[in-house]
Parts: sequence; structure tokens; C-alpha cells
Amino acid sequence: DFYAGRERTVPRHVFYNRKAALEKFPRLNPDVLFAALYYDGAMPSPERIAIELIRDAVAANAEAVPLNYVRAVGADGQAVYLKDEIGGEMLEIRPRIVVNAAGPWIDRVNRCLGADTRFIGGTKGSHLVLDHPELRQAIGEHEFFFENDDGRIVLIYPLFDRVMIGTSDIRIENPDEAVITEEEVDYFFSMIRRVFPDIEVNRSHIVFTFSGVRPLRRMQTGTTGQISRDHKVQVLPAGEALDVPVLSLVGGKWTSFRAFSEEAADAVLRFLGRERRLSTRDLPIGGGKGWPADETARQTWLDRLVGRYGGERELVSRLLNRYGTLVENLLEQQGVNALAPLSSLPEYTRGEIAWLASSEDVQHLDDLLLRRTMIAMLGRLTPRVLDEVAAICAAECHWSAAVLAAEKTRLLSLLRARHRMDYNRYAPD
Ligand SMILES: Cc1cc2nc3c(=O)[nH]c(=O)nc-3n(C[C@H](O)[C@H](O)[C@H](O)COP(=O)(O)OP(=O)(O)OC[C@H]3O[C@@H](n4cnc5c(N)ncnc54)[C@H](O)[C@@H]3O)c2cc1C
Repeated sequence: DFYAGRERTVPRHVFYNRKAALEKFPRLNPDVLFAALYYDGAMPSPERIAIELIRDAVAANAEAVPLNYVRAVGADGQAVYLKDEIGGEMLEIRPRIVVNAAGPWIDRVNRCLGADTRFIGGTKGSHLVLDHPELRQAIGEHEFFFENDDGRIVLIYPLFDRVMIGTSDIRIENPDEAVITEEEVDYFFSMIRRVFPDIEVNRSHIVFTFSGVRPLRRMQTGTTGQISRDHKVQVLPAGEALDVPVLSLVGGKWTSFRAFSEEAADAVLRFLGRERRLSTRDLPIGGGKGWPADETARQTWLDRLVGRYGGERELVSRLLNRYGTLVENLLEQQGVNALAPLSSLPEYTRGEIAWLASSEDVQHLDDLLLRRTMIAMLGRLTPRVLDEVAAICAAECHWSAAVLAAEKTRLLSLLRARHRMDYNRYAPD
């Protein structure tokens, strides 16, 4: 309420006593004492924001080069060595400054640059995605957010037509080892039962799991929940790791990414002796540019798109929701194909998959299915969907039959190992 201030873009918070809470949410545990309703930002597709930020950066500066699947592997004085993990090539660059934005891997990257830092004390957080219409209906469009007795935060979140459950907060040294454990699954189920005691949840409802590591500052605290979620630019001056300064971006959240980026960019500009020329404070991102702000503007947009490109209004509207105003780019590039639904998954179109595969630096099938679309995460990846999407992707990326087969194998083993997802079991056709 304080931050919304005078602009008042969302209503104020409301407290409900037990009776009112149970009237509003009849499936809630009747032992509830009170509930509070408040408004917050939600980011249901953070991967798309990351991709659209990269698209914007490249559009803003012809010299910006996004290097997907390229890893910093070593350094020497002024030179930094990068390895192209697909082609195998080694690249040598001579930067004036290095920004280490490797999140939980920051210390590992600094070590390969020659500095033995201990900036990060990462914690693992896991989530479940459930196909559970009864629970989905019980929460409505609300995220249930509560604190367990030991201070751990638990959330039950409406993720499109699914329910996302999270999250744990467990110290971890090696971010590559972050996967959900059976104990975490049991813990999440026990938490759901505490809030909605008469709703049955079990492992057959799980369609996807994921686990990530928060790049938190290394701190000694009683519980992981007490570790600061703040961010900081840690500077290694020239001469300490390399002959040029190395700036490590420690901490940070999606909520505060713009402010942190601004701080980091200002620090870089100071080192380079340059002035800031642009502010990102009011800059719309990706498909947010020219976004129709109200219902009338939205209908005008849809009229124009349907008039120009054809197609059903509902489909165009769905694409507008998914890609914002970038939808015009998709319709322009793919024509009628942009409006032709996949036969295995009509909520996506053939042209949409082709457009993503050709314009968003897709190198592997998992880029497309895990990080450009929500297909795997929402448990939509059936064998038929995999075959249809993979065939379109292979055509766009010019993969041979052997490469396509290897990509499918890679994807399925990744889903099993990192997301504990057996697609035959969780998403039968
Ligand atoms: C479980 C969990 C829940 C969260 N919940 C929220 C939330 O509710 N709200 C919120 O605002 N934030 C949340 N966050 C925080 C947010 O997701 C992270 O803070 C944010 O993603 C960190 O971004 P980053 O770019 O610093 O690091 P990352 O997104 O981790 O990116 C680091 C990148 O560095 C790359 N890399 C590693 N080694 C090398 C190398 N040698 N060379 C080149 N690249 C390398 C990695 O491949 C990776 O792409 C959550 C995080 C987790 C893990």
C-alpha cells in the first residue's frame, strides 16, 4: 500500500476474520484465524521476459552479441577465454571491464578468471506444477502465501490452468546439483493439506518439477529465510583478478532486476568514464512496447490485426497475451502459418513454433520446450506434441534426422534428470 502510494494502481489490502475468510475460500482449513488479501506483481513467464530483454538489447545496439551456449573458461591478464560449447571453438576477447552475472555460479566464474572469491551462499528452491482442477478452483486467481512454523515461506500459485507449489530454501554448494527431492515433495504435500485439508493431493497430480539456486550473498544466519535478499555489485579492482576490473552481480531478484541493472550499468559507466544517456525507468520491455493499455485500445488492436492478417479473434487475442505487441512480428513473418494450430496442441500454432525457433536463438530442443514456451512446464509435452514441435524446429534449424533424434534423446534425459518428469507417465496422449 505504501509503495502504491498516490498512484493507487491496485486496491488496498483487506483483512478477513475467520468467518469472512471461510466464506471467500470455503475449502480453506476451518482452523484459520484470519486471512489478508493484498495485491502484488506476478510474472508467470519470466523466461519470456529474459528473452525479450535480450531482443531489445540487440535491437538497441548493433554491436551487442548474445552468445548462447558460450562459457567463460579462463583468463590471462587482459584476455578472457570463452568456449563455444556447440561448435567447440575457443574465443579470446580483450574487454575493458568484465561483468560477472553468472548468478549462483559467480564464484566459480571468478575462480576461472583468477580470483578465489566467496561471494555466494546459494539456496536451492524447488517447485511442483500440479494438474489439479479441484485445487485450482479452490484458490481461484489468488496466490496463497503463508509462513510455516519454522519461518519457511510456502506458496500455492495459479499458473495458468495449473497450480504451482513452492518453495524450499536449502543451502547448496554446487548449483549443478539442484533437483527436487522426495522429502521436498512430501513437505509440499503436507503444507497443501494444512491449508486445504479436504483436498487430496498425491504424486499422480505432478506434471513438472523444477529446482533453481538463488544467488544470495554468503552470510551466517540461523535460518536460510534470514539471508538478505538484497543485491550488491562486488568490485574486484584491476590487478586483483585481471588487468581490468571485474564486477560481480551478487543477489538480486526478478522483482528488482531493473533497479539492479541500472546500478550495475552506472558502475560500468563510472569505470569507463562515460555518462548515462538513457534511463530504463519508464522503458517498456519487448512486447510491452505500445501495449494497448485499456479494453478499448485492446479491441482496436485486435480489430486491426484480424482485419490485416485474418484468423479467429480469440486466437489472435491469445497470441497478443503471450507475446504482447511482438505478435505483429510473428504474424508478419509467418503469415497464415501463424494462425494454424498444432494438431497435437491447438493452444500453440505452427507458425508460432517456427517463429520462436528461427528468431530466438534456439540451439537445442529444450531451449524451445523449456525456455521459449511453457509447453513442458505446464505438462503439455505428450509424445505427439514432442514429435510435431520437434519436426518444425528441425526444419527451422536445418537439423538432419540424426541431429533431431539426438535432440529428442537429450530433451527426454534432461526432463528425467532435472525435472523428474517421465513424459509418458505424466502426460499420456
Ligand atoms: C527457487 C527460486 C525462487 C525464486 N523466486 C523469486 C520470486 O518469487 N521473485 C523474484 O523476484 N525472484 C525470485 N527468484 C530470484 C530470481 O529468479 C533470481 O534472482 C534471478 O534469476 C537471478 O538472475 P541472474 O541473472 O543473476 O542469475 P541466473 O538467472 O542464475 O543466470 C546466471 C547465468 O549464468 C550462466 N553461467 C554460469 N556459468 C557461466 C560461465 N562460466 N560462463 C558464462 N555463463 C555462465 C548460467 O548458465 C546462467 O544462465 C527466485 C529464484 C529461485 C532459484
